[in-house]
Amino acid sequence: MKSQVFFSDLKVESKKTLFDKLDTLLDRTDLKGKIRERDLVAIKLHFGEKGNTAYVRPIFLRKVVDRIRECKGKPFLTDTNTLYIGTRSEAVSHLTTAYQHGFTESAVNAPVLIADGLRGNSAVKVKIDKPIFKTVSIAHAIHMADALVCVTHFKGHELSGFGGTLKNLGMGCASREGKLAQHSNISPKVKKKACKGCELCLSWCPQSAISMVQSDSGSEKGPHFAFIDSKNCIGCGECILTCPAGAIQIQWNESIPLFQKKMVEHAYGVLQKKKEKTLYLSFLTQVSPACDCYGFSDTPIVKDIGILSSEDPVAIDQASVDLVNGEEGNRSSQLPQHWEKGEDKFRALYPEVDWTIQLAYAEEIGLGTREYELIKI
Ligand code: SF4
Ligand code: SF4
Repeated sequence: MKSQVFFSDLKVESKKTLFDKLDTLLDRTDLKGKIRERDLVAIKLHFGEKGNTAYVRPIFLRKVVDRIRECKGKPFLTDTNTLYIGTRSEAVSHLTTAYQHGFTESAVNAPVLIADGLRGNSAVKVKIDKPIFKTVSIAHAIHMADALVCVTHFKGHELSGFGGTLKNLGMGCASREGKLAQHSNISPKVKKKACKGCELCLSWCPQSAISMVQSDSGSEKGPHFAFIDSKNCIGCGECILTCPAGAIQIQWNESIPLFQKKMVEHAYGVLQKKKEKTLYLSFLTQVSPACDCYGFSDTPIVKDIGILSSEDPVAIDQASVDLVNGEEGNRSSQLPQHWEKGEDKFRALYPEVDWTIQLAYAEEIGLGTREYELIKI
């Protein structure tokens, strides 16, 4: 059976604002049916790394908060700490970044908390008994919440092709241990010829897995290049975008499908107790080529499209990717090809990443369906 996905474009008028449209999207996903009085409701979002500007704006979150309060639920805004060192790697920096990006209680009408605690180890082991993991480590506050509203900024991503709802659930709700378990089979590699020896990547590596080594010639005066010790690398990917020469590349192998499947199994763990108490919003605005975890957001690859809501995390991701690919590509963005309507924008950005794997696997383990009915409001 097809899942329903509701879609609002961004066209507005004085009598019908975008907030009114967001209201309708929330109504169509039966918010009232999901939230009981006194329910603790986690609103999972991404506050954006410092310097990033593409995350969903606080004023939209305020609307979601107010609607949850109308249902007599108790909402809080939340995200988890990052695996790599940055402006969101522990709760103090993370909250500071969130406040600086406008996610204050006075703005959003709800408290903000970091779901996996001060250092990312406040977690619950959830038994899932799936092919890869028997248990997954999920952020404590998200696991303990009665209901979940998953608000996703849809964009490109180097390991999953696109960063959508499944990633917001699977990676975004995992503890540090859970993130490590998802990333650990992927170790990037330095292209010797491209490395300029600037050593910038060394200071960004949370594991000190990168060192400078002499060129093959053995000459002490020969060029130095960075070397990644795969035994210490946790596969966080931080060095890949840090390198100004583009010399650090992911080793494209079977680990990419495995990464996506691991992510989906974590999403399964997040939803295990509250699949029927979760709804999803997907913002197809400022569709940047890479994740909001980077400290910048490059030119969007397509024009702003709209907002989606659904009760099915698989269907909303499939609909989101279809809508982005259905648009004309922005030729002044990082998009190197596939500018025509209908061409795969995410394959153009990340040719080695088959983004369909996450959707197919999520469907296989019962998270939802790729078959959807798009209902325009
Ligand atoms: S070498 Fe590994 S651990 Fe270090 S930044 Fe790169 S991906 Fe992360
Ligand atoms: S940041 Fe890039 S260019 Fe600089 S040392 Fe590391 S790999 Fe080489």
